[in-house]
Amino acid sequence: MKTGKHQKIITRFPPEPNGFLHVGHAKAICLNFGIAQDYAGAECNLRFDDTNPYKEDPIYFQAIKKDIEWLGFKWSGEIKHASDYFEQLYAYGVQLIKMDKAYVCSLTGEQIREHRGTLTEAGKASPDRNRPSAESLALFERMRTGEFPDGSYTLRVKIDMNSGNINLRDPVIFRILRTSHPMTGDKWFIYPMYDYAHCLSDALEGITHSLCTLEFEDHRPLYDWILETLQTPKHPRQIEFARLNLNYTITSKRKLRELVENKHVEGWDDPRMATLSGMRRRGYTAEGIRDFCTRVGVTKKDTVIDIGMLEECVRNDLNERATRVFCVLDPIKIVLENFPAEKCEDLTVPNHPQKPELGARTVSFSRELYIEREDFLEAAPKGFFRLTTGAEVRLRFAYVIRCEKVIKDAAGQITELRCTYDPATLGKNPEGRKVKGVIHWVSALTGLNCTVRLYDRLFNVPDPTAKEKEGVSYLSFVNPDSIQVNQKSVVEASLKGAAPGAHFQFERVGYFTVDRTSHADALVFNRSVSLKDTWAKVQAKE
Ligand code: ATP
Ligand code: MG
Repeated sequence: MKTGKHQKIITRFPPEPNGFLHVGHAKAICLNFGIAQDYAGAECNLRFDDTNPYKEDPIYFQAIKKDIEWLGFKWSGEIKHASDYFEQLYAYGVQLIKMDKAYVCSLTGEQIREHRGTLTEAGKASPDRNRPSAESLALFERMRTGEFPDGSYTLRVKIDMNSGNINLRDPVIFRILRTSHPMTGDKWFIYPMYDYAHCLSDALEGITHSLCTLEFEDHRPLYDWILETLQTPKHPRQIEFARLNLNYTITSKRKLRELVENKHVEGWDDPRMATLSGMRRRGYTAEGIRDFCTRVGVTKKDTVIDIGMLEECVRNDLNERATRVFCVLDPIKIVLENFPAEKCEDLTVPNHPQKPELGARTVSFSRELYIEREDFLEAAPKGFFRLTTGAEVRLRFAYVIRCEKVIKDAAGQITELRCTYDPATLGKNPEGRKVKGVIHWVSALTGLNCTVRLYDRLFNVPDPTAKEKEGVSYLSFVNPDSIQVNQKSVVEASLKGAAPGAHFQFERVGYFTVDRTSHADALVFNRSVSLKDTWAKVQAKE
């Protein structure tokens, strides 16, 4: 722009509507839309690369639009489609034939592959390579009008069967697919190939910078050849960048679809999926994901990013915004013997102790309360500052209690803890007494039963695809413990009407979001990310 080469920067995000967007796409979205935000007057198009009607579905178009908007971006003008240019792409095909730069070929897909050669072997010319232009033109027209079955003919450009770059060995640019298309209906029987449609769509839209992943570096000479041969008014500059790879994560739409279709997960928006809709349902925030994409940066070198970094970005964002509430995942009842049975005391507690501006709410304190089963140990080791028989602990934002007696059932399972509370300890420790531990709690009188789903990594190895060459599918590394459902959890009454998508920190437990299936009478929460658990670290050390 400084030198006047460009007046206006135009980028694009070009998804194929054959699946839901995943975290890798988030990187491409943040890059393309981000550049448009960085430069005055710049634009970023959303263009569906809808060149394969067999794999496309209106559901995917909708989901992709929703995900981009959710992530916080808006495309420039109308949504574009490669299919908007089918007529023009056909005309370019005709032009190439007339220039003797393309020919209709009758080899089957299998034969074309065989003729293509390898990295060390030159390709073999198709017997149709020298078909006269007039003949190719007539055939191409008949391909268009649907006279021929799928696979009978293709249109190929005539470049170089001996090229060191296999992409230049007369690639197919049109094939017959006798099927209707989500955008163009039954108008077409032939559809352009991705490589051909992609570079021309970019040129037709006046894209200045066509940013794509590294595997397209070898396709660039083909794009350049097509654009130069056709003398298109615009010739976008392609710049490749490294794909986002995350450990413990699959970022291939085909495999994500397989996980859905084989019912390893609930659907594309299963909270364990690295899809944008899955991450959203899990409670990841758009801000957290965008921050992650910024931190990952843009490089030319393929690397694998630790999933912990994504979790940390989400955690940092949730830490800022999530209201703190009480929820006991695995409850055990405590009875305060010296607290009146009929009494219900309203305590005012902060929504975010570090952010007074987020206000306060009321939680009720009563004779019967629930605490986390793991917050009590009968024989507690040194360094365990939670509840144990004969010892004191503080109930967060409330009183200090002492455990007097453990009640067990016939099987030896603890059913109840009999405790006493110290009325003089509301919000402060009495002189000379140090109570180290603080635990969370929920009133048994007003608390609400809820379902809490704890999610873990979907795969139990860092690279689930590492053994594919040995014939071991990534599916064999699906983590059977990646979801744990607690149906007996109890949450404080203030969450009665919590709206799906709302974010909370369950104090001492983690960050949670309200699932889309949740309603007032059957609350469902998904764990987004854990807090850092210092006790787990202590245990690990010991
Ligand atoms: P998949 O392999 O998951 O099917 P794709 O590349 O076929 O992905 P597209 O819908 O064609 O999916 O992708 C749209 C854009 O997103 C492309 O420009 C592509 O370069 C980019 N993209 C896809 N996956 C990643 C990734 N892992 N990291 C960065 N960018 C990606
Ligand atoms: Mg693609």
